[in-house]
Amino acid sequence: MSEFETLLYERPADHVARIVLNRPDTRNAQDTKLLYELNAAFDKAAQDDEVKVIMLAGNGPHFSSGHDLREAGSYDNMDEFDTVGTWCGWHCAGAEAQMAREREIYIGFSERWRNIPKPTIAVVHGKVIAGGLMLIWPCDIIIAADDAMFLDNTVAMGVGGVEYFAHPWELGHRKAKEMLFTADWLTAEQVEKLGMINHIVPKDELDGFALGMAEKIAQKPMFALKLAKEAVNAAQDCSGRNNAMQTAFALHHVAHSHNMQVHGMLVDPTGLSPAVAGKAKK
Ligand code: ZN
Repeated sequence: MSEFETLLYERPADHVARIVLNRPDTRNAQDTKLLYELNAAFDKAAQDDEVKVIMLAGNGPHFSSGHDLREAGSYDNMDEFDTVGTWCGWHCAGAEAQMAREREIYIGFSERWRNIPKPTIAVVHGKVIAGGLMLIWPCDIIIAADDAMFLDNTVAMGVGGVEYFAHPWELGHRKAKEMLFTADWLTAEQVEKLGMINHIVPKDELDGFALGMAEKIAQKPMFALKLAKEAVNAAQDCSGRNNAMQTAFALHHVAHSHNMQVHGMLVDPTGLSPAVAGKAKK
């Protein structure tokens, strides 16, 4: 039996691990359990000296529909998990517990995965919505099927962007603003031009193409791969990436607190369809 309920952990080739999101009935919506299992799977691959390259893919018609809104309003479940950070305070009053939770499982996990010192490849198809971006942006390389579509609609929900605010680095500042302000879909072709993804591949060739690249990378010396990754990440961080993202995360929590005071929920329902607003309120 698999050690994970929401994921598959595979070894499709020598020195390659592949983690597959496996909640296709929910379009791989991310509940807390899935995020903790994903973190454990990344740790397993990171700690296995036989693994040199880590792939992340999704089963079903879409890569990820984002955070599982069915869990919203019942966020008092952190005690069910072996939490990994030191911020804690899961049951505190006011803004404190929500900020603690998001610091651990959203920006915390995404930044942690971004810093795994092994090459990571996101293999995406179908829709990648909001929280879905926080799974692919931390990866080093993104390979997309020609049907892939990307969306951050959080401004429509009264919040200024997803918790891992990498938009300016992924898209450039102008397109980042357009994506956030309009909440329009971006196609694989559009984001390839912006440098957000490495390659677009016909859907039926996606897995083979991505695995081929993973195998090519896995032939290189591990230490040199680690050093190359660290060097590129350092270049990005020299531009103030981490500080800017921490600022965006604080602003994100101003929005959650504002929405709780004004609307009694973490998001502003006025920009949402009635069906989604109902789910978010639960
Ligand atoms: Zn949030």
